[in-house]
Amino acid sequence: LLMLGIETSCDDTAAAVVRGDGEILSQVVSSQEDLLVRWGGVAPKMAEEAHSLAIDQVVQKALDDANVSENDLSAVAVTVGPGLSLCLRVGVHKARKIAKSFRLPIVGVHHMEAHALVSRLVNKDLDFPFLALLISGGHNLLVLAHGLGQYVQLGTTIDDAIGEAYDKSARWLGLDMRKGGGPALEQLALEGDPNAVKFSVPMRQHKDCNFSYAGLKTQVRLAIESRNISTDDVPISSATKDDRQIRANIAASFQRVAVLHLEERCQRAVEWALKMEPSIKYFVVSGGVASNQYVRTHLNQIAEKNGLQLVCPPPRLCTDNGVMIAWTGIEHFIAGRFDEPPAVDEPDDMQYDLRPRWPLGEEYSEGRSVSR
Ligand code: ATP
Ligand code: FE
Repeated sequence: LLMLGIETSCDDTAAAVVRGDGEILSQVVSSQEDLLVRWGGVAPKMAEEAHSLAIDQVVQKALDDANVSENDLSAVAVTVGPGLSLCLRVGVHKARKIAKSFRLPIVGVHHMEAHALVSRLVNKDLDFPFLALLISGGHNLLVLAHGLGQYVQLGTTIDDAIGEAYDKSARWLGLDMRKGGGPALEQLALEGDPNAVKFSVPMRQHKDCNFSYAGLKTQVRLAIESRNISTDDVPISSATKDDRQIRANIAASFQRVAVLHLEERCQRAVEWALKMEPSIKYFVVSGGVASNQYVRTHLNQIAEKNGLQLVCPPPRLCTDNGVMIAWTGIEHFIAGRFDEPPAVDEPDDMQYDLRPRWPLGEEYSEGRSVSR
């Protein structure tokens, strides 16, 4: 079994070829760092153009690196949601074009399910049910995974995701955004005192598993403003030693509280999950922010404290990639969940069935019953 995976839901154009047994044959990612740095976020129209420019090359390189041709593939997996419609469309269009020409089945993949399931490629012993924390630029999800396509959502963010808070804070601190705000902030935080700035931990009065990062983001901005450091026109590279230390302290203090918030909600989620499924052995942490070493260390402590094993994919499988799409495609394909190849006369301008907003399973809150 050989699966091509295509991902274009956000700002990375990615493709990969993965074998049925989980062997990664190739992995290609083209990011829009320059656009992100210039525009301070993802502008849908520009992101779409960048995907359109990159997609053919990225897919071709994935096939070449894997040393296979389209004829060798068993099927094509592609992200159909959630994400920006304009962007999703580029990947789905490419996938259907290949599937049409080479008579291949198609698997439509849920981007967040893929972030969760790539952990099963990494750790072959990882069986359902398991608990997963998915932390990225657009999502902050705690889910109980009962089986393929079967998830119960224990918590989500009521405003921003943690990755968004990292990105904005990094920008306000004048950090170099070229390799992403998250990694830059993590790096700077190493030089700072995590107790220097007293940020308050979000949502302590809410005894649930939801998250909130908008308030913490605002606290960071106020901390910067009240210290009179003009981070807008002075990038960190030209800051004085004292100024740099202040910024590092803010970064470290932000990171401490941002992750403490994760820890508190995860501890409660573990308790909820074990009540529903006492057989759970694994705690999966994935999504772009899971590539952060401080995050990994602290969530590993939560896992150990509760007798669970942490499974955190290697960083390049945590951030957006084609491997997770191909692997999730493999899981669904084996389970018989795929679409037949597109009709030979399918028009190029067809309206595809995209799912820009696509919840990952039913919501659950303690006290309310679970319906699956
Ligand atoms: P989503 O998965 O919600 O659709 P996305 O696909 O854009 O969003 P990912 O690629 O999964 O997101 O993750 C990107 C996010 O991860 C960004 O917000 C980025 O700042 C963050 N991130 C990446 N590395 C780190 C790090 N070392 N520390 C903190 N955050 C990080
Ligand atoms: Fe993602």
